[in-house]
Amino acid sequence: MLGVASSELAFAWPLQRKAPPLVCRERQHRCGRKVTVGRGFAEEVRGDSLPAAFLLFCAPVVFASFRAAAARRRLSSNCVLKASRRVVTALRYKSAAASTTDACQPTDAVPAASASNKDTRPWRHPPRAARGPKKLPFSDDDKFWDFTVYPKALFPWSPEAGGRPWHSVTNIHKVRLGFVAAVHLGCLAAPFTFTWDALQVCLVLWFITSFGLCCSFHRQLSHRAFECPKWLEYLFAYFACLAVEGGPIGWVRMHRYHHVHSDEDDDTHSPMDGFWWSHMGFMFDPSTPEKLKDASNTRDLDKQWFYRLMDDQVAFAVLTILLPLATLFAFGGMPYIVWGFCVRTVLVWHVNWGINSAGHVWGYQSYKSGDHSMNNPVLGILGLGDGWHNNHHAFPRSCRHGLAWHEIDVVWYVLLILSGLGLAWNLQYPSEKRLQQLAL
Ligand SMILES: [Zn+2]
Ligand SMILES: [Zn+2]
Repeated sequence: MLGVASSELAFAWPLQRKAPPLVCRERQHRCGRKVTVGRGFAEEVRGDSLPAAFLLFCAPVVFASFRAAAARRRLSSNCVLKASRRVVTALRYKSAAASTTDACQPTDAVPAASASNKDTRPWRHPPRAARGPKKLPFSDDDKFWDFTVYPKALFPWSPEAGGRPWHSVTNIHKVRLGFVAAVHLGCLAAPFTFTWDALQVCLVLWFITSFGLCCSFHRQLSHRAFECPKWLEYLFAYFACLAVEGGPIGWVRMHRYHHVHSDEDDDTHSPMDGFWWSHMGFMFDPSTPEKLKDASNTRDLDKQWFYRLMDDQVAFAVLTILLPLATLFAFGGMPYIVWGFCVRTVLVWHVNWGINSAGHVWGYQSYKSGDHSMNNPVLGILGLGDGWHNNHHAFPRSCRHGLAWHEIDVVWYVLLILSGLGLAWNLQYPSEKRLQQLAL
């Protein structure tokens, strides 16, 4: 009985089977009309959609060809599936859009975009000349540098400073703002979770991270100030990534750009555009990635798998946020997370950002660098040598930033030790002639 029923069911099932539920969604076509896309395959076949039918019947053949090609190129089947899905999706969207194009009005009769439509063009601030000048605190007209600045604003309520509209805030900037705010808020728990162990972890990780930023991202990757074995180069670069200031390629691209346009209108983070802008504001502005979209200044890093991996957003988040958080929690619970991640990261951030802001405003100049970069003793010590910023802008390739005997430069001292051990070589220094030429 059961067998008969089963066979009957097995025979009848294909006939009684219903079409799969359609997963449709509406999209705005460029003519302003709403179109429905994302129909199921069954629906497309029933609708005599030739491209869909072709895909349905030829898909196994296409997939097998892809798979064979992939095997030769050592790609995983997952890669092939992803590529196939992309092709299918692109064709389906194209097909849906094409089916409505005929019914669209000619271009000259296209209705104006509705008010709700977002302007997706990247937002750029007006040039300095069009923004209101302002004096920085503690500025002094007698000094040789000009402390009149032309602040850029992030938000719409300061239109005189080029305050941008809300729609120009991109998702990546929202995520970044949320992360930076969350890490700062985490520091509020520091007094309640204090332990001596947690403080030690904080200081050790602060040194490792700060050293990574100054030695690897800055001196080695951005300026090629020295060479070392690849394993050590990548280790130092990983330490730098723990600062969660972005991947090596993006960081280096922005920094090299900063040196080319230092304190000019095009600089990504100059205090001439406002102190807080150069300290933090630039990170949340779409004009920053717009300026950096030319990737040609980081070709040397683009060729290396490790830097490409660390520049991938998912890998970066896993290796520099999730992994450290999980490790810290496993060893010391919440006190380690608060002190070893939140407090440590905030310390590294503000010293490093301080070199962009205070390091271009307060301090003294020893060399003609052609910009407002300063040697700032506080940042020189806390930044492990990177705060001797005027020396650095005058001689960017030098592995030594503290050029006077009293300018403490911890990173350079470590490089001397590594050089003595045979783990660093080709250390770059400015020539005596150049030092004299640029001396003030
Ligand atoms: Zn600078
Ligand atoms: Zn630099």
